[in-house]
Amino acid sequence: MQLEGKTIIITGAGSGVGRASAILFAEEGGNVVCADVNDEWAKETVRLVEQNGGNSIAVHCDVTSEADVTAAIDATVAEYGRLDVMYNNAGVATPRPGLRFEDHTVEDFDRLMSINLKGVFLGTKYAVLQFKKQSTPGSIVNTASVAGIVGWGGTVYGATKGGVIQLTRAVAVEAAPFDIRVNAVCPAGMPTTNFMDIPTDTATQAVAFEKVAQQHPLGRNITPEDVAAAALFFASDTARNVTGVVLPVDGG
Ligand code: NAD
Repeated sequence: MQLEGKTIIITGAGSGVGRASAILFAEEGGNVVCADVNDEWAKETVRLVEQNGGNSIAVHCDVTSEADVTAAIDATVAEYGRLDVMYNNAGVATPRPGLRFEDHTVEDFDRLMSINLKGVFLGTKYAVLQFKKQSTPGSIVNTASVAGIVGWGGTVYGATKGGVIQLTRAVAVEAAPFDIRVNAVCPAGMPTTNFMDIPTDTATQAVAFEKVAQQHPLGRNITPEDVAAAALFFASDTARNVTGVVLPVDGG
């Protein structure tokens, strides 16, 4: 029970990595606040957590909205008394498959920056303020991407994730004297159906999944559960002396 008695907000908890993390974190004893812009998906995650015997609530949260992020933290404190872990996971992919850098519109750029980087800025800022108000240790986990480390996986998307990585490292140093840890997980391409817009019919899906698997040296697909396991380590006290770490979960 690595998260016994802890309260965690997970953004983007309605699907993929966020949903897998919600289920795992609740299995580990945590109270999980599923924050997502898609209310139906967040509620379905809560249902899955509860079906598994865990504690969870859903809150509507568009991570680009300062008001939504602060309201999510307020709702968390009202329900569970405090916040222990902020998992800034919500993110969106490059809007059109194969989009070249020069073909991004300003609207594409603004949307990617707003959800993927400003969202992490807001979640981190208000979590730090909440941890300081509580005078308790805190853990912040961010989902970045290997696209933020190497020149692969989307240009503007990669820039947003590079920003998340640098924000992680810099805030980790600044917040360390307050026993606030900040770490990031960096998945490589995962065939999560919503993120990658993978077709739902099983034959086409199998081909698409295999194509993604072959991009990794280990030759198998990375799953949301793999990323959730890495995030759990950062979230828990097992990692009490780990901060500023950027961990690829990328199959090599
Ligand atoms: P997903 O599409 O399955 O889930 C993303 C969730 O974020 C959805 O529930 C969606 O509703 C939510 N969301 C989108 N915009 C939001 C907003 N403005 N406010 C709040 N919630 C919002 O994607 P996933 O694969 O689980 O991705 C999770 C994270 O992992 C993202 O940050 C993504 O960039 C990152 N990542 C994904 C991959 C991949 O290949 N799937 C690879 C590397 C990194």
